[in-house]
Amino acid sequence: MKRILLPISVMIGLAFAKSDLVQSSFGDLRCQGCRTVVQALSDRLTTDPFVSAINVLIGDKYDALSIAQSLSQLIITPDYFCSKVTNLCEGKAQYQEVDPQDDIHNILKDKPNHISNNFINELYEELGNRRYIAAPKRLKFLHISDLHLDLFYEEGTISDCGQSYCCRNDTYIGQGSNKAGKFGAVVGNCDPPKVTLQDALNFIKEKINPDVIVWTGDNSPHDGYRTSEWEVTLNTNVTTQMIQQTFPHLLNATYAVFGNHDNFPNNNWNFKTGSPAAQNSMSMWKPWIDPEKFEQFQKTGYYSQRLKNINYKLVQVIALNTQSCDINNRFVMSELYDPNNQIEWLINELKLVEQNDGVAIIVQHIIPEECSESYAVRYRAVLERFQHIIRLNFFGHTHADKFKVSRAYDDQNSPISMLHVCGSISTWGGNPSFCVYEVDEDTMLPVSRQTYAFDMAKANQDGFITWDLYTDWLITYELKDLSPNSFVEFANKVKQDGLLARQYNQRARRDYNLSGFCDDNCRQNAYCEMMTQSLEEMSQCQGKSFPYDMGGDIVNGILQYLQNPWVKVQDKKEKLHKWN
Ligand SMILES: [Zn+2]
Ligand SMILES: [Zn+2]
Repeated sequence: MKRILLPISVMIGLAFAKSDLVQSSFGDLRCQGCRTVVQALSDRLTTDPFVSAINVLIGDKYDALSIAQSLSQLIITPDYFCSKVTNLCEGKAQYQEVDPQDDIHNILKDKPNHISNNFINELYEELGNRRYIAAPKRLKFLHISDLHLDLFYEEGTISDCGQSYCCRNDTYIGQGSNKAGKFGAVVGNCDPPKVTLQDALNFIKEKINPDVIVWTGDNSPHDGYRTSEWEVTLNTNVTTQMIQQTFPHLLNATYAVFGNHDNFPNNNWNFKTGSPAAQNSMSMWKPWIDPEKFEQFQKTGYYSQRLKNINYKLVQVIALNTQSCDINNRFVMSELYDPNNQIEWLINELKLVEQNDGVAIIVQHIIPEECSESYAVRYRAVLERFQHIIRLNFFGHTHADKFKVSRAYDDQNSPISMLHVCGSISTWGGNPSFCVYEVDEDTMLPVSRQTYAFDMAKANQDGFITWDLYTDWLITYELKDLSPNSFVEFANKVKQDGLLARQYNQRARRDYNLSGFCDDNCRQNAYCEMMTQSLEEMSQCQGKSFPYDMGGDIVNGILQYLQNPWVKVQDKKEKLHKWN
């Protein structure tokens, strides 16, 4: 039994030790006793004393409340705790852990026989050999992510102030000596001001002129400890307004998703009640979302609609809500199975696209290795099952300009598709950047990827921003094309070549001072990030023994552990036969 919450078990155990019922030899009485105690605990879990106790452990009162709410929705309920966690109600057990291999098998079993695990690579080969009479049609996709605008940014403050967030009016004094410049500060803990995003949008409009905008979330700054629900909503609203005013002609071609920073408290999306901070912004996205899709979007945070740029064939954009899998979303452990029903919905959407001879583009925020393991291994199976359908897969969240190769569950771990991860506009982790992809209209495969950035130190000195074509992926990294095979070849080179690995890591952060060295460990880590699709897989690749204890945070490690495996309710047939 993997779902064991040690501290809670101890708490309940103590309660039982004081109870006469524990002495009873009658199982029914023990079960009834458990139910009574757990119900009492569940009723009180979200009250001040309990939330304060959790706060002592984790040091964040809003997060503590989310943990309490989540526990009271499932793990600390009489049914679940007494039959699944303590087995005191054995015989009446309703909960059954699901072996992920069973679900992977179910997802893959109706993969069409004629689709080989080399489908996308072969399509790239064909594309490379194609001879054109007229110029091939291309669509230009802009990908912006992780804007994290700081609406209270103050130029002239200390950017490396020694606090968890700086560049505000209370950091004119502080530890460091770096000043917040006009356009932002890369040194220190700051997000950029509005002027920087507006400059980026103006440049994009004048010089890039995109056909499609993909915006992968995270709009509020990294000031979680002092922000509020209202401020998080304000950030999404202000950013939405800036994008809509700069690109009024692309209202039919903008696809946005929420990130973990678009909720309050950050990361937390309650699947029973929703995420007010995000949902309060949704009406502003109405110009972008088909009216008939809007109601579902309001409920779940995900939606799916046609790419309107092309009308002669179906290209479906599927926008996911990765709070359904975020390991830091406390409510992921409040759902027994497939939180927010996202995997089930995604499979159904992709089947519809398949039935209509279409292709799909997926837009989302969090990369799979920061999702619950249960989600990530199934998502990988979805990518394999629909590898002939999915042509683009956009991610943000890491603030790094990177990629991941998606691989099949076959003997060779065949590379089947690409995950494109774009860096941030925010200075949190590097110079601001955005990505541009040229997409072949026939195949809807990306044929070029370019990263634009600017040197913040220079811009602050000049008083204006000079955007550079910073990384032209095909040229800079000498890639033959953007196929999975080409990226595997590149990943293998990175594993061997310290200079290339160092360049890749520094370019990921848009560093203008390329220097230094990437040792064996650094190269292996870079390779593992490129080639794996779940936290457990990546940890294994990196030679770690236990994947869940992220950053030495034991409580967080336990909470992540509780998210796996998914559990089915035996008496609910629809759960048992979900993907059969
Ligand atoms: Zn972010
Ligand atoms: Zn994020």
